[in-house]
Amino acid sequence: MRLFSSVIAFAAIFSSFHNSCAVAASANNSVVVTLNATSDKLLAHYELSEPVDSFEWEDGAAEIRSRTLQPAAGDIRIEGSHVGRTDGAPLSHFDIQIAMDDAQPDGVYPIASRVGDAGWLVHVPHLRARTGTLDTKVELKFPSAFVCAPCASSTPAGALSGIFSAPSDADVFIGPANEVQHQNSPAWTLIGASHVPAWIVPLIQQAANQALTTYSEHLGQPAAAPIVVLIYDVRQARPSYQGDTTTHGVIALRWQGSMWQDSSDALIDQVRASMAHELFHLWNAETFHQAAGHSAWWLYEGSAQYAAQLVNRQMSKASNTAWLASMSQNLNTCRLKLDLEPLGASGFDNTPASNACGAVIQWLAELDSRWTSGNQRDFFSIWHSIFDAASRNGNQYTVDDFLRIAFTPNDPSRAQRSALAMLNERGAERWAGLIQSFRSLGLKVTAQATDQSLRDRLLLHVLSQSCAAGYYYSLKDTRVQIKTSGGCGPFADRSETSAVEGHDLFTDVGAAFDAVSLNCSKNRPVTFTLSDSAGKIIAPCKTAMPAARETYTISEP
Ligand SMILES: [Zn+2]
Repeated sequence: MRLFSSVIAFAAIFSSFHNSCAVAASANNSVVVTLNATSDKLLAHYELSEPVDSFEWEDGAAEIRSRTLQPAAGDIRIEGSHVGRTDGAPLSHFDIQIAMDDAQPDGVYPIASRVGDAGWLVHVPHLRARTGTLDTKVELKFPSAFVCAPCASSTPAGALSGIFSAPSDADVFIGPANEVQHQNSPAWTLIGASHVPAWIVPLIQQAANQALTTYSEHLGQPAAAPIVVLIYDVRQARPSYQGDTTTHGVIALRWQGSMWQDSSDALIDQVRASMAHELFHLWNAETFHQAAGHSAWWLYEGSAQYAAQLVNRQMSKASNTAWLASMSQNLNTCRLKLDLEPLGASGFDNTPASNACGAVIQWLAELDSRWTSGNQRDFFSIWHSIFDAASRNGNQYTVDDFLRIAFTPNDPSRAQRSALAMLNERGAERWAGLIQSFRSLGLKVTAQATDQSLRDRLLLHVLSQSCAAGYYYSLKDTRVQIKTSGGCGPFADRSETSAVEGHDLFTDVGAAFDAVSLNCSKNRPVTFTLSDSAGKIIAPCKTAMPAARETYTISEP
C-alpha cells in the first residue's frame, strides 16, 4: 500500500503567473471543489472564496495531472501544479475535465479510475489546494442512479438528489448504486465487483471476512469498516497488481492485464493475501500510525505482509512445509535485495526489501515470542500490545515500541540481536547470525551459495577497489567481459577473463572464490588471466571479501 500520495520527482518550469502569486494563505480563504460525475464524464468546478493570481495544487502529481487534466475553457491554463488565467487577471473560479489515466504509473495514485462500466474512483488529494494555501472542501454532484462513498448528504433527508460532501484526503467512489454491495458481520462495503474476473470476487469476499474477523478478534481494537473498490483494466499490456489504502477505510485493489482472467493456485494466494494485506493497514497505518519521524516502511509493510500470509495460511489450510517455503521466499528476497546494506536506511523505503525483510523481522519476532512465552504470545499479541500502548499515546507507535514489545529488552535474545543487526548494521556476517537465530528457535536452515552469487561477489568486490568510476561486466559463453569507463587501475576499458588465481570462473568458482578471499584477507593482489592474450591483470585487494549471497531453505528439523 501507499498510505499517502507518493511524491514523484518534480521539475517544474514555472511561468510568470506563479512567481507573481500575490495572495497569501489565510485561514479564511478556501476553495470548494465540486466533482460532477456522469457515466461518461468527470468534471471539477473550483470556486475560490477570494480571487488569487495563481491556484496551486499539492505537489507530487504534476506528471499525472499533465496527462489527465484539461481546462474546460480556453481562458485557463495549467502548468505543473499551478492554474492561472491566460489573460493574467485574478482567478476566482475555473473548470477542468478529468480523464482516465491510461499510463498507470508505479508509485503514484491515478486521479480517476474506472469502476465497473460507469463509475469512478477519484483520488481527491491530487485535486485539493496545496496545504497552507486554501482550505479545500469537496462536494459531489451526480445523477440520481449514482451514489458516493465515503460521503455524506448535505441536503435535507428525502431530497432526490443534491450536494454530497466528501473527505479531501481519501479516494472517493462516485457511480451506479448497483455497483455497491454492503456486507454484514463483519461489516464492510464491496464496490466494483461487476467488472473484475469472476473468480476474484468470492476470494476477495472470503479473504475480507476472514481477515476482518481475525484482526478484530486478536488486535483488541476496532478499525473503520472498509470500503473496498475493485478495479480491473484488461487493456494494459503489462500485467500488474497494486493495492492502495487511503484514509476513511477506502481500499483500492487494481489488477491489470489479461493474465488475471484465469485463476491459478499462485494467483489465488496472491489475491487473498493482497486483500488481507491492505486490511491490516486499517490498523497499523490508519487507526494507529507511526509517530512523526518514524515512517519505517519495513515495519508497516512487513507487518501487513506477514499478517496477510498468516490469513492466507488459515484460508488455504497450507501445510507447515508450504508455510516454511513461503517464509524461505521472504528470506531469500530479503537477502537478494538488502545484501550488505542496513534495512533502516531510507533507500529501502517502498521497495521489495521493505516488504520481504519487514516480514522476516515479524516472523523472527513471532518465533522469539512463542519460544520465550511457551507459545502464549504470537504475532497478533505483539501487535495487540503495540496498539494498546498507542491508544494511550495519541494512537501513535514507533519502531522502538515494536522492538521493546516484540523482544525482551533486558535480556537481548539472539533473535533480537539479529533483527537489530539487519536494521542498523552493514555486512554479510549478519546473515550468518540470522540463520543461527532461526536454528536456535528450532528450525532447520540450509544455505547454499550458487556459482553465480560467488562469481558476482568476487568480481564486484575486486572491481570496486580498483575503480573510481563506473564499471560493469557481462557473461559471454565461458568468459567474463569487463567494461569500465576508465579510471579502473589495472583494468582496461575492456577486458575479458575466464580465470582468477588459476581457477576457472565457470567450472571452478568455489575454488576461485576461496583463493581470492584468502588473498584479500592478507592484503595481497589477485591475478586474473586474460582470455584473448597471454596477459594478466594484477588487481589490488585490501579489504576482506564478504560472504557470497546464499539461497536459504528453511524446514522442520
Ligand atoms: Zn502495504
